[in-house]
Amino acid sequence: MTKTHECFEAAQKHIPGGVNSPVRAFRGVGGEPIFMERAQGAYIYDVDGNRYIDYVGSWGPMIVGHAHPEVIEAVREAALNGLSFGAPTSLETEMAERVCELVPSMDMVRMTSSGSEATMSAIRLARGFTGRDKIVKFEGCYHGHGDSLLVKAGSGALTLGVPSSPGVPASLAEHTLTVPYNDLEQVQETFSRFGDQIACIIVEPVAGNMNCVPPAPGFLEGLRSVCDDHGALLIFDEVMTGFRVARGGAQELYGVKPDLTTLGKVIGGGMPVGALGGRRQVMEYLSPLGPVYQAGTLSGNPIAMTAGLKTLEILSAPGFHDDLTAKAETLVSGILGEAQKAGVPMAANQVGGMFGLFFTDQPQVGNFQQVSQCDTERFGRFFHAMLDKGVYLAPSAFEAGFMSSSHSAGDVETTIRAAGEVLREL
Ligand code: PMP
Repeated sequence: MTKTHECFEAAQKHIPGGVNSPVRAFRGVGGEPIFMERAQGAYIYDVDGNRYIDYVGSWGPMIVGHAHPEVIEAVREAALNGLSFGAPTSLETEMAERVCELVPSMDMVRMTSSGSEATMSAIRLARGFTGRDKIVKFEGCYHGHGDSLLVKAGSGALTLGVPSSPGVPASLAEHTLTVPYNDLEQVQETFSRFGDQIACIIVEPVAGNMNCVPPAPGFLEGLRSVCDDHGALLIFDEVMTGFRVARGGAQELYGVKPDLTTLGKVIGGGMPVGALGGRRQVMEYLSPLGPVYQAGTLSGNPIAMTAGLKTLEILSAPGFHDDLTAKAETLVSGILGEAQKAGVPMAANQVGGMFGLFFTDQPQVGNFQQVSQCDTERFGRFFHAMLDKGVYLAPSAFEAGFMSSSHSAGDVETTIRAAGEVLREL
C-alpha cells in the first residue's frame, strides 16, 4: 500500500473526487492522482519519496522553478509584516507599474485572486463598456469557470451557445457564440450576423487548454480587425501565455495589441493571483471610477504581490526566454526524433516555454477537432510509463506542458531518453 493511495482514500471522504480542481484527478489518463509533498527547482516529490522531473509546474506558474530561493526569501520577509490588510499597499502599485511596462497594451491593471476572476471581470467590463451582451469564444479554449465561459457551440455553425455544465442558465449561454479556433472565416460570418450585439472576442492567443495550439498566421491580426470593424473589444486571455511565451506574452510575440488582457499563473509566482488590464479608457469603466462592479477581499494580497514581483524580476533577465524556448525546442524535437525511431506517429507544437505532444499521424494540429482526433488512450499509456520513469507530464492529452528555467540540459536529456524507452515499448 502506497502512502499516496492512502492519501487519496482519505481525501475522497470530504473532498469531491478527492481533488480541489478536477483536472488533478487523472480522469484523462486513468489511475489515481499522486499526492505531492514538496518541490524544488525542476523536481517534484510525492508523499512516498519518489522524485519526478516536473513539466506541469503547477499548471504554468512555476516558470523560475519550484521554491526558487529568492522568491521564498522575499515571501518569508513579506509574511513577517502580516498576511493581508484589505487596504492599499505600494506593492500593488509596483506590480501595476511592472505589468504595464512589460505588457505595453496595458495602461491600467486590476489584480484578482485567480485567472477565472480575471476573465469573468474582463467579460463584464467588455459588456458594460460596449453596452452589448454577446461574446465570441473559441472551441477548445478555456477561460476559467465563469458561467458565460462554460459554453460550447450549439449544433451547426452560427448557432447560439449551449451550457457545457449543468448550472449554467441556457438564457446566459445563448449570449456566448463559439467558433472553431484558427477559423477566421467563421468569425467574420458570426460578426456579419451578430456584429452589433457582440461585446468582445476572448481568445487564448496560443491555446493551452486543448494541449498546445498556436495561432495560424494572420489569425490574431484578423481578430483585431474584425473587432475594429464592429466596435467590439479584443480580449487576449494570457493567463497561460503571459510572461511565458515571451516576456511580454503572446501579444509581444505576434505583434497584435488587444484592448484587454487577462493574466494569471506566472504573475503570482505560485500564489493565487490573476489580473485584468488594458486601455485606460476601458479600464476607467471599472468601479470605483466607473459603473462596472468588480472587487476582491484578497485582491492585491501583499504575499502574492511579493512572490509575483520577484518572479517577474527573475524572468526579466536578458536571455531568460531565449533559454527557455531553446530548452523546450530541444525537448520537443528530441521526443519527436525518438518517436520516429520507434515508428510511433507523433506531432508536436511548441511556443516559447510551452509545448504539446500529440499521438497522431496528422502532420499538424491546429484546432480542437484535430486535437480530438489524437489517440488519447495511447497518451494515457505514455503518461503512466513516463511517470514510472520519473517524469511528471500533465495528466491529460488536452493540456500543454511547461518548461522552467530550472530544468537543466541534463533533465531534458533524461526526459528524451525516457521517452525513447517508453515509445519503443508502446
Ligand atoms: N484562462 C486560461 C487561459 C487558463 O489556462 C486558465 C487556467 N488553466 C484560466 C483562465 C483560469 O485560471 P484559474 O484556474 O486561475 O481560475
